[in-house]
Amino acid sequence: MKINSPVSFRPDLNNWTPYSSARSLAKNNKNYIFLDANESPFGIWNRYPDPYQSELKKEISKIKKISPKNILLGNGSDEVLDLCMRLFAEPKKDKILICPPTYGMYEVLARLNMLRVLKVPLRTPDFQLDVDNIIRSIEKQRPKMMIFCSPNNPTGNTLTDIKKVLDQYDGVVLVDEAYIDFCKEKSLLSYIVRHPNLIVIQTLSKAWGLAGARIGMAFANERIISMLTAIKPPYNIGSPSIKAATKALRTSRKNFYQYVNTIIKEKNRLEEFLTGFPPVKKIYPSEANFILVESAVASEWQNHLKKHRVIVRDRSSQIPDAFRVSIGTVKENNLFIKYSKEFYKILQKKNFYEKSALY
Ligand SMILES: *Cc1c(COP(=O)(O)O)cnc(C)c1O
Repeated sequence: MKINSPVSFRPDLNNWTPYSSARSLAKNNKNYIFLDANESPFGIWNRYPDPYQSELKKEISKIKKISPKNILLGNGSDEVLDLCMRLFAEPKKDKILICPPTYGMYEVLARLNMLRVLKVPLRTPDFQLDVDNIIRSIEKQRPKMMIFCSPNNPTGNTLTDIKKVLDQYDGVVLVDEAYIDFCKEKSLLSYIVRHPNLIVIQTLSKAWGLAGARIGMAFANERIISMLTAIKPPYNIGSPSIKAATKALRTSRKNFYQYVNTIIKEKNRLEEFLTGFPPVKKIYPSEANFILVESAVASEWQNHLKKHRVIVRDRSSQIPDAFRVSIGTVKENNLFIKYSKEFYKILQKKNFYEKSALY
């Protein structure tokens, strides 16, 4: 038994006429003389990009084994998330459910879209979904959509019970899989066939090493994808980005696996170091390319690292005494380890003097 109304678009979008861009009518074909889009006839990036990013989608389609008709590309997944909110949720009316601690952009985008944010915190200490509370919240509050992040940022674990929610809820479920390429768990991509309310979001920013290109992906059924395409800004990804990403996906797949393997190996090494390191109160098992560290001296530790130009991410606003460290190169990780050890030495000395001052 499902407990919500089926997926519906924002009512005012039902008769939506998308902007018809000059370049969607005739592709950037060299045989045409383009006098239609007020571009400059000079330069190398002078033409507007393909609004549908067909070349890039073809490559993604091969890698993900899914039809280009089930793919929407955005200027980073942040744009994809924003488009999804705009497509389904009515400002000042609809609610969106998230499970903190999680990626901060969900709430920021929801507020920007004037949506009410329902929070059902992840359970502690394992940071898994509190399914009972989510179901209760669905029944009572009727959120229009919910966003899960798996593996979750900043905790690093995969969420094992998303399917349980999908079985009981037919409102929109967004699953953000930004870190899926680092983890053993399978993507929910294949579920979009069975669940017309599911949107899986991925990115080229993390494992693919293309954060600067700003390319996010949404995978869903054709009805949702064609409507997302209809409401997106026509030229939402620039041609240099499209070109770089197409080339990377076409030619660097071997590098990709190598990089991912190196990052996972390095993560295991950092985990080992942190496990025996006295200032650490707790580290969380991570399926992503970062580790969440809890320490009673978290802020002093971060300050010491910063003095040596090593920057980690303070997460104490979400999880007390916690920071998140991304996995870098071997050399970078060695510096993190080196300055952390140095910090501990200083701490020991200070503690010694503080203690002896008591006598
Ligand atoms: C890094 C990250 C993204 C990626 O965002 P882009 O806009 O594609 O760079 C998305 N979701 C989560 C949870 C992230 O941590």
